[in-house]
Amino acid sequence: MCDNQKGILVVVSGFSGVGKGTMMKKLMKEHKEDYALSVSATTRSPRPGEVDGKSYFFVTKEKFEDMISQDKLIEYAQYVGNYYGTPKDYVFDQLKAGKSVILEIEIQGALKIKEKFPDTRLLFVTAPSADDLKKRLVGRGTETEEVIANRLKRASEECEGIEKYDYLVINDNLSEAVDKVHSIIQNSRFNNLGEIEQDLIINNTEYIKEMKSELKGFSKGE
Ligand code: ADP
Ligand code: 5GP
Repeated sequence: MCDNQKGILVVVSGFSGVGKGTMMKKLMKEHKEDYALSVSATTRSPRPGEVDGKSYFFVTKEKFEDMISQDKLIEYAQYVGNYYGTPKDYVFDQLKAGKSVILEIEIQGALKIKEKFPDTRLLFVTAPSADDLKKRLVGRGTETEEVIANRLKRASEECEGIEKYDYLVINDNLSEAVDKVHSIIQNSRFNNLGEIEQDLIINNTEYIKEMKSELKGFSKGE
């Protein structure tokens, strides 16, 4: 990486259980000199293995609302019954240090970030099919059946906003998907846009149409 190049702000969103967390962990491991991964605050309870301050800052609703009133968050949103938000200081510090900062956040937050910082690149991660998505969410074994159903319903709603994103990444083979994310960020950052034309959301309309229809089936309980 060239030290004289400024980092960029990148949002990675995607349906619950698609593998965003797994991908970001691998990306950070392989390219830690290039990226800083923002750690969000949330009011949801930690899953087994999640570490406070690393996976999330796990806070109470009162503490989260204090953070909002003290203007400590760049954005925040509610997702399936909990607050999630991005602390400001870390993001600005890392950008100043020349790193590209990755926010792994949902769509409402993504759109707020794009409005505030129009140069932000928005990436959406999906699975090969809605069936694969459900299998991963169930297979992770961290949520109740009711929460899984709500998250799949939310996936269907989120899919309606997918055209607001810039790039699509299908997480089929994990390593290839992680390489793709790195390639999109680097090519976009250095303006080699021809290299990543096939990854533009607007060039994947057939796939998106199919995914929307499959997810609608789940949200109706099919
Ligand atoms: P998210 O952060 O998007 O909610 P996770 O990273 O927790 O999703 O992944 C959900 C589940 O899917 C995990 O059990 C993970 O091991 C699995 N997973 C991630 N990527 C893949 C992949 N490419 N193929 C198959 N399973 C995957
Ligand atoms: P999970 O509970 O599965 O960790 O996350 C639920 C959703 O919240 C995911 O779509 C995740 O990307 C999103 N999320 C995590 N942190 C933030 C945040 O700081 N802001 C917003 N808007 N969404 C977030």
